[in-house]
Amino acid sequence: MRVFKSPIKVQKRLRNLAHQNLTIGFVPTMGFLHQGHISLIKEARKKADIIVVSIFVNKKQFGINEDFDKYPMDIERDKKLLEKEDVDILFVPSSEDIYPETFLTEIKVSQISDFLCGEKRPGHFNGVALIVTKLFNIVDPDYVFFGQKDYQQCLLIKRLMLDLNYRAEMIICPIIREENGLAMSSRNSYLSTEEKEDAAKIYYTLKTISDRITKNTIAFNEIDPFFKSEMKKINAKTDYFAMVSLDSLNAITKFENTFIIAVAVFFGKTRLIDNIIIDRN
Ligand code: AMP
Repeated sequence: MRVFKSPIKVQKRLRNLAHQNLTIGFVPTMGFLHQGHISLIKEARKKADIIVVSIFVNKKQFGINEDFDKYPMDIERDKKLLEKEDVDILFVPSSEDIYPETFLTEIKVSQISDFLCGEKRPGHFNGVALIVTKLFNIVDPDYVFFGQKDYQQCLLIKRLMLDLNYRAEMIICPIIREENGLAMSSRNSYLSTEEKEDAAKIYYTLKTISDRITKNTIAFNEIDPFFKSEMKKINAKTDYFAMVSLDSLNAITKFENTFIIAVAVFFGKTRLIDNIIIDRN
């Protein structure tokens, strides 16, 4: 695995490989890797000749009172995991490499940025859109891999890729969970063992709702209060609970054939997200 810090050098290397007709699969991350990230890399391995992973904790997607300063990091451990997966190139730029003092550009994907995590974390998706644009321009991938766990992010990036004529194919990979059902996340490291057990209740409740929808044993307007009351039982605060259409993220007002339930929940200061796709077909 070759490790690059300089955007110019990694870009040069990747252009060189592309000229040799090798396809490039790209997995952008913020590091502190877990099996969720690894699953994207394994997918990339199936599709592309060259696997590029980036690790960059993007300050511009964090709000002022969020966890940028304490976001978990362990580059040496990450490198070992990536080497085990036969990753070809690791790109780990510094903040100055990505956002030099002279930096002025902003990117905004309208509408999709306005609800759910976008509403709760103002500016978050502008930061995501900006870093993704920059990384895509540096890497120029044939395939890009993102996790369904960040479903709104997937939709936003899909829109951005279409609007800005990126040629890459986007592959959305399923949510990887702990044995108890908790969606894997670098932020789970903020939780105590006990909190991790409690946090498993998020997915358990989503799964219960999904099963009850399938069996027709829950009314549409019972679902939101049910979720919130289940979260209260474990002292977690629901940041949002949303039942939305899969492609527009508009709220649905009755059961549709397919939709997604997306949630964000606070355990103390730790904010976790999860979702489940409901398919009644
Ligand atoms: P992050 O490092 O949190 O920015 O995540 C990098 C990529 O990994 C994003 O595309 C995430 O959606 C994806 N990802 C994070 N957690 C999971 C998970 N539990 N299962 C699958 N993909 C994930």
